[in-house]
Order: sequence, then structure tokens, then C-alpha cells
Amino acid sequence: MSAALESAVLDPACALCGSRERRTRFKEGEHAIVTCTECDLTYVTPRMTAELLLSAVYDADYWHSARPRERGYADYLADRALHERTFRRRWRGIRRHAPRTGRALDLGCADGAFLAVLREVGWQVQGVEPTAMAAAARERLGDDAILQVPIELLRLPDAHYDLITLWDVLEHLPDPVACLKSAREWLRPDGLLVLETQDVRSFAARVFGRRWHHYKHAEHLHHFHADTLKRALRESGFEIVERRRGLAGKHVRGSFVAERAARVSPALSRALHRLLPADRALYVNLFDELIVTARPR
Ligand SMILES: [Zn+2]
Repeated sequence: MSAALESAVLDPACALCGSRERRTRFKEGEHAIVTCTECDLTYVTPRMTAELLLSAVYDADYWHSARPRERGYADYLADRALHERTFRRRWRGIRRHAPRTGRALDLGCADGAFLAVLREVGWQVQGVEPTAMAAAARERLGDDAILQVPIELLRLPDAHYDLITLWDVLEHLPDPVACLKSAREWLRPDGLLVLETQDVRSFAARVFGRRWHHYKHAEHLHHFHADTLKRALRESGFEIVERRRGLAGKHVRGSFVAERAARVSPALSRALHRLLPADRALYVNLFDELIVTARPR
């Protein structure tokens, strides 16, 4: 690690309970993946500061990455239609808890695919995207709909939104509880929070161990499970309405499956590259992610 990088990395305490007591699950490169012995939250240490994350991890290459197994996506915008299919399916799964229309805020909205789906059915939408991908979201949804700001610096009106969503975002945040507390303030008292994050206690996580495809240490800083997520939500002023793994699948390309499999085994990845047409769309659910719907309590 260079000297400049060393000064910008942290050895954080547990983001859920503040303890420094922990056991190491495993080490990889300069990172240790540890579990808090007080509250059972799994997290990565050391990690970059929030400022460095934005410049060193979430740069333009993040969305068009040469090494997507370790960081980012192969070509995020090329999969726009698949993302919309995924979000349409998810919206069908959660809409019964939400009002018919209202004001929605998507934190970490990427190119705005989920907001585009909501707008089609009459919602007023706003997205926050700290990275360069904000430009694609603006192009799609209009300049006024998208804020390009780090989530921890956001200032939004209290009790304003009927729906706040975080798709694959919580695990990336240096301070996920602070973000949930802010979301609680921005949400109307009868509003709905929906979030998706990977489940470190899932069958897939246990079977694959350190080869689990969600271990991407520079960016996935926190690995929740049902109980740590429940505590994080409770301490932020939410109670869980519903928790589902079945809804957390994704429409992806064959090439995405093969690329993620490389973490499990290079031979498996090569076999999948041969077997799966790269552009064939597949619906994949390893049941290792949770979608949680919650309300202010
Ligand atoms: Zn803890």
C-alpha cells in the first residue's frame, strides 16, 4: 500500500454498536473480514475513508470495469433493459405495501432504472447518485430529478417522501446506520422504506466461504444478516414489515454469471463462459440477498 493510501484508510469500530471487539473470519490482501463479537455485524477493515472511496473506487471505471469480479460492473449501462426487468418484478412484489403514487427517493440510484419504472406508474421521483453515473440518470429523468452528492452530505426536507429505496447500497456505505437515520427523517410517518443487501448468513455465503461473490472488499464494507439488519433498522426508528429472499433475484446476462463464478472457481467460470451464451438473459437468485420493507415506528 502506498504512503498516500495509508493515510486515507481507517481501522473502523463496528458501525452498528461501536465496539472494537471482533473476531477475524478471514484475511485477503490488505483486508481483514471481521465479525463484531458484541452485535455480530461483519465488516471490512481497514477500509478507505469516504472521500477516498469516491475518487478511488467509484470513479468512471466502476461502471465499466476491467475487473468486475473485484470491483464494479463490466458494463452497467449495457444492461439497462435487464435492470428494468428486475425492478419491475420487485415493484410488483412490494407495491402492495406502498401508496398507489407519491414522492419516491432512490438513494444510490445509478442510472435511474428503478425510478424510471416508478415514474411509468405515476410516481414523482428523485434520485441521489454520488458517482459519474448521475449523468446517465439525469439524461433519463431530467436534471431536477437527480442530485449528485455523497449520501452522507445530503440535506433533504423532513417528512417529505412516501417511499425511500436503497438497492444494493447499504453495504457500500461507511456509516449505514447514519444513512438509515437520515432516511427516517426524510420519510413521512406513514411512508415506506425498502432496501436490499446481501445476507452473510445465507446458505450461499456459508457454502462458498471466502469465495462468496459478495466479498468485494474495497466496496462491500458491511455484510448484514437478518438480525443485524433488524437492529440497524430498529435503532434508526424503523420496524420491519416484511423480509424476503425470494424477491431478491436479478435478470442478468450469461456473461455476468460466468464472471461472478470466477470467485468460486476459475474452472467453473470458464465452463460457464462456454455453456452460457453471453447475451442470454437469465433470472438468477442464489437466495443470498434480503429485501426488507420497513416502516417508521
Ligand atoms: Zn457491533
